[in-house]
Amino acid sequence: MVEPIKDLSRLCIHTITTKPWGFEKALEEYVAHGVQGISVWQNVVAELGVNKVGDLLAASPIEVVSYVRGGFFPATTETKRNQAIDDNKKLIEEAAAIHAPLLVLVCGADPGQSLEDSRNQIQDGIEALIPTAMEMDVRLAIEPLHPMYADTRSAINTLAQANTMAESIQSGFVGIAVDVYHLWWDQLLEQEIKRCGENDNLFAYHICDWKVHPEDMLNDRGLMGEGCIDLKKIRGWVEKAGFNGFHEVEIFSNKYWQMDQLEFLNKIITNYQKYS
Ligand code: ZN
Repeated sequence: MVEPIKDLSRLCIHTITTKPWGFEKALEEYVAHGVQGISVWQNVVAELGVNKVGDLLAASPIEVVSYVRGGFFPATTETKRNQAIDDNKKLIEEAAAIHAPLLVLVCGADPGQSLEDSRNQIQDGIEALIPTAMEMDVRLAIEPLHPMYADTRSAINTLAQANTMAESIQSGFVGIAVDVYHLWWDQLLEQEIKRCGENDNLFAYHICDWKVHPEDMLNDRGLMGEGCIDLKKIRGWVEKAGFNGFHEVEIFSNKYWQMDQLEFLNKIITNYQKYS
């Protein structure tokens, strides 16, 4: 039996979730509502500049959980692959500058080549980043994505694939972000979460829900409790695997972005405690 969530001490929200607010408003409202963690999306840094974002976060009681998102390593040309590595080094530096201990990687895929080739290039790309990650003290999290994104967004589609890669890289700076939206359907999920924890690779846990008949492949994620993911069960597995970090709410939703964001934030908090 999974213990109910009693407070907001593990609640983190990704800034993209309340995109219409902009960063400063989001930060103010999260803190005012008792949200303890924030994951910052790259658009925030692009808009405000890394120094301003870093200063605002340093002055806030909120904990910075992650910087989202780097990756996109595979490409059919070496020039593009090298460019991706350079881009990611810059993102690691930005993560450090905004006090984020973790950079989430959407690893990428190039439809012009096999998924296996893309996976090899992902591993090469991540390995090339380890010295920068160590220097900046920013860890890297491979985020396996649902197979519907295997064409262009990620050649890593199961937790088993991510585990195998992280174990092969074997660095304390490289682990995994488990996102329920991408992994809930996998019959091996329980055992792969256990494996991830046993190898100290469980770095992050992202939550939302899978709406039945989503209207959009990307921007119709559900609020916890609104879909068919057994969030409590998965949280139980994650906790049993030794994870005691933040539960990061990450919802891209055309529907919720149109809603009053204060009302939405209150719904996030209510549903987080009720259904997660
Ligand atoms: Zn995620």
